[in-house]
Amino acid sequence: MNRKLIIVIVILAFLLAASLIVISCLLSSTSNRAVISPQSHTPQSPFIQATSIAESQTAEVDVAKEPVFIVPIYNGEEIIILDEDRCLFDADFMIEEYLHFSDLDSLGRCGPAEACIGVSLLATESRGPIGMIKPSGWHTIRYEFIDGNYLYNRCHLIAYQLSGVNSDERNLITGTRYLNMEGMLPLENRVYNYIISTGNHVFYRVTPRFSENDLLAKGVEIEAYSIEDNGEGLNFHVFCFNVQPGVTIDYHTGESYASDSITRSIDSDNDDSVYTPSDGVTFVLNTNTKRFHLVTCQSVYEMKSKNRKEFFGTREELLDQGYVPCGRCNP
Ligand SMILES: [Zn+2]
Repeated sequence: MNRKLIIVIVILAFLLAASLIVISCLLSSTSNRAVISPQSHTPQSPFIQATSIAESQTAEVDVAKEPVFIVPIYNGEEIIILDEDRCLFDADFMIEEYLHFSDLDSLGRCGPAEACIGVSLLATESRGPIGMIKPSGWHTIRYEFIDGNYLYNRCHLIAYQLSGVNSDERNLITGTRYLNMEGMLPLENRVYNYIISTGNHVFYRVTPRFSENDLLAKGVEIEAYSIEDNGEGLNFHVFCFNVQPGVTIDYHTGESYASDSITRSIDSDNDDSVYTPSDGVTFVLNTNTKRFHLVTCQSVYEMKSKNRKEFFGTREELLDQGYVPCGRCNP
């Protein structure tokens, strides 16, 4: 009897010990799993958000939150330079062509469009119709004094010539003729010409900037960075205004009316009317926008006098200095 009891006790003790070992193993494996669980991954953008004054000053770093962009105030120039024109780019990046458009938001508005553009993305065919697309804030409206007569164009975020993408609603915003031709086109030409002449790739991002619930963008932020030469050939970061001289625009709806007072108030601190080109001037520079113009270009008389500089050399010298030909007078 005694012997049997001892055997039973030994077996029970053994079972108890074995179950303790199993339980402790289970516990340690669950805690291991917790440690190696995948960390939340934030996709890396090729561009560091450089517009973020708020970011560097905020102690709490929330990587998922996009820094607040403060829409610049229009002061009579078609573009302004952001962050000293540098697109702060983390160069450790694979060269792979892509195009990315954001889905429209609940108000039907476009978001950032981003691309890595190489020769094979450039448009090869002539553009098809886009009239069926009605971007947010769209109105078909004419003013006799506007070049081409229509106030609004369907404005590609990533230009057709750079992407071959034409009638994608995620790539088209309501933009003024002025934004399209004076603000964006010279920059797009610059990117196109760079890619064609070098065969290199360019990271390119266009972000439409809306205030609150406005249907019409205040403008677009454009960043470009040439990859193979680490930004040597192209590295800019600007904001192009969605304005039209002589027209007052309600950005909430896209409605508009002709307004002389607007142009006058812009020009009031501007002694443009008294500008007379000196003898032998070959081009007139805008030192703020880094554009150069023919002496006869209307923009020469519209720019602020403090930004106007006469130039007596060649076109090539200006290109070497980083100046961009104006889209209006094509110097
Ligand atoms: Zn010009």
